[in-house]
Amino acid sequence: CGIVGYAGNVNFPSMRPLEVCLQGLERLEYRGYDSAGVALTAPGMERVAVRKKAGRLSNLVDDIEADPLPEATVAIGHTRWATNGVPNDVNAHPHASRDGKVAIIHNGIIENASQLRLDLQAEGYRFASSTDTEVAAKLLGKIVDNVIAETGGPDLFEAMRRLGRMLEGAFTILAVDCRQPGVVVGARHDSPLVVGLGEGENFLGSDVAAFVAYTRTAMEIDQDQAVMISADGVAVTDFDGNAVSDPAVYRIDWD
Ligand code: GLU
Repeated sequence: CGIVGYAGNVNFPSMRPLEVCLQGLERLEYRGYDSAGVALTAPGMERVAVRKKAGRLSNLVDDIEADPLPEATVAIGHTRWATNGVPNDVNAHPHASRDGKVAIIHNGIIENASQLRLDLQAEGYRFASSTDTEVAAKLLGKIVDNVIAETGGPDLFEAMRRLGRMLEGAFTILAVDCRQPGVVVGARHDSPLVVGLGEGENFLGSDVAAFVAYTRTAMEIDQDQAVMISADGVAVTDFDGNAVSDPAVYRIDWD
């Protein structure tokens, strides 16, 4: 339902990525939700750290206070409005890949999730939740592994484009990978995604409320486009990898 992403300096893990995500989720509360969660990573981590709770955002905040998350360089945050699977901790986002190295959040409904789930189950994949989103998470992890096998290195941006070509239905998806702790990538189809341009940091949101506390400069991601943000850059392509050279940048007027 609500989506936030943050990329900061890869040399300086701090609490800021988590704080920006929690603050953004608070700003997105007006949309309504039943669960909330975050995922973050930093150089040296072997898995992405994921924390999620059903109920109010304060449940998540209390849980993090009781058992703090590590400092990070990138993070993603989600408030869920359940469509596939009841509202509970397990079905809450983020959802992780089989090896726990990739985590995603998702707004919308993936219409071909049942078939994709059957295909993955036939390959031995097991699912903890009953969500369409976990299917996309497991599939993205598998695609990242394929890209590594083909090119010798992780490429979450390329993996996200391939995922975007395989999914049917409506989606805004953000992902992080502990092997690329300086970037957050996203993709969208029939669901909104906006970039917030900062100085030495960049943001993603399902709407500008997600990051308006930090920047007033925004850029829309168009239908069937993928985006990668880092601390000092933003790249946008279509799902085939063609660069979008001049995305429209605008000023947010907001009181
Ligand atoms: N279809 C997903 C789920 O039920 C995402 C729902 C949302 O947009 O929050 O988990």
